[in-house]
Amino acid sequence: MDEAQPSRSRWRRPARLAALLGLLATSLVAWLGVPQAVHQGLWAVQAQASPTLPTVVLVVLDNVRADQTSLCGSSLPTTPALDRLAHRPDASFTCKAIAPGAWTLPSHASYFTGLWPWEHRADWADQASHVLAFDVRPLAPEVTSLAELHKQRGRATVMIAGNPLLGAGAGLEQGFDTVVAAKTYYEGRGDWIDTSLREVLARPAVRDAAGLFLVVNIFDAHDVWAAVPAGLGWLPAQPQADYGAGDQGGATRLLRRELPEPERTLWLRQIRQGYQYGVYTEDRSLDAVLAALDQAGWTAPGLQLVVTSDHGEMLGEHDAVSHGAFVFQATQQVPLVTVGLGDCSGGGGWISSIVTYRALADGRCPDQSPEASSYVPPQRHFDQQSAGRWGHVARFAAWQGDAQVELDGEELHAWRAGTGESEPLDAAPAHLLQRIARIRTTLEQQPSPTQIASPATQAALKALGYVQ
Ligand SMILES: [Zn+2]
Repeated sequence: MDEAQPSRSRWRRPARLAALLGLLATSLVAWLGVPQAVHQGLWAVQAQASPTLPTVVLVVLDNVRADQTSLCGSSLPTTPALDRLAHRPDASFTCKAIAPGAWTLPSHASYFTGLWPWEHRADWADQASHVLAFDVRPLAPEVTSLAELHKQRGRATVMIAGNPLLGAGAGLEQGFDTVVAAKTYYEGRGDWIDTSLREVLARPAVRDAAGLFLVVNIFDAHDVWAAVPAGLGWLPAQPQADYGAGDQGGATRLLRRELPEPERTLWLRQIRQGYQYGVYTEDRSLDAVLAALDQAGWTAPGLQLVVTSDHGEMLGEHDAVSHGAFVFQATQQVPLVTVGLGDCSGGGGWISSIVTYRALADGRCPDQSPEASSYVPPQRHFDQQSAGRWGHVARFAAWQGDAQVELDGEELHAWRAGTGESEPLDAAPAHLLQRIARIRTTLEQQPSPTQIASPATQAALKALGYVQ
């Protein structure tokens, strides 16, 4: 099958058959003299839901940074579905949303609870025994998640996750009746989201519910990226791109500045193109999700939708690829599109994508947008990889107006926001320093972490490649 074309034909064929059967039935019913209204009910598609509550949906485009979407400035047609969605009359969007965490676990935990990473602490967590190079603390079961909230309100709660971490026991599953998560990095790609969602929507327990709360995580823009097929028209064909794991992998050699030219340029180009094709594939899945909901009757009572990302991806900035160990603009600036929730655009200023929680809990965007800040705890594995041969590592960052401030240990860096750190500021604005100081105080005031992941969770995360 040509990978450039989604295999929707699988769905079109039965749809055509159903239409043909419907036509035959209509003729038969008309011939028999049965009123029109009756045959419509008789021949309705089995998967059709008839909800009474508005459908609440969060789509996380995993690993998609804002500037690589055509909505937010890419010159390549990477996200046509997102563009269309953002320009609907009932939509709002911003390209200046900042993800609260540096990787999947903390940002999803923030979207699900409204708590900041420095409050919920579901993130990297060093373990005193040093059995693992680093460890992960799951989301605490005591907090109330969006899924629990919507379950109480009578909705079926469903999560479809291309990222295997969401089903790996890190606490993100809490409150969901149904979790379908990919088992490996490779499984949840391409048409997997579409196929999995349609299968779940057809289950009687979901189909017959009064309402639906749905979370979809789409994972194609995360490494390892699929091969770019021939005939796309805007990207050349190339084989599967990969950072390459271990000491001799491209990512480590780039970070240590051991990748000579022209190898460096060629390697980075392949990573970037694999990533761009991944963003495009995620966008196709977004389109499929919207179509599936529409066709199954879930948009009829109203749709409250947020589409955003959990973090971005370094594509060579600071001699780095990947994400998860630092909070630079490339890994934190994400798109945010809402439908049926009022105006979540933040009036053109920097906002946090944590607004997702408030908007989906209340059914409307809050009057005041949350301030844009990010934090990640130290990540020993990355520090070992970079081996001190690297520049600063931003672990706290805050954005407002024209300014962006990063803190590495006790060292401060201030930049003109949006310039990709090419324009340093003479002084860091006081209000951003105060914000970072408040985050540090919150972290210091927390009791020492006790809830380290269980051995089973550790094993699961290790198998998925999240810990070594
Ligand atoms: Zn992620």
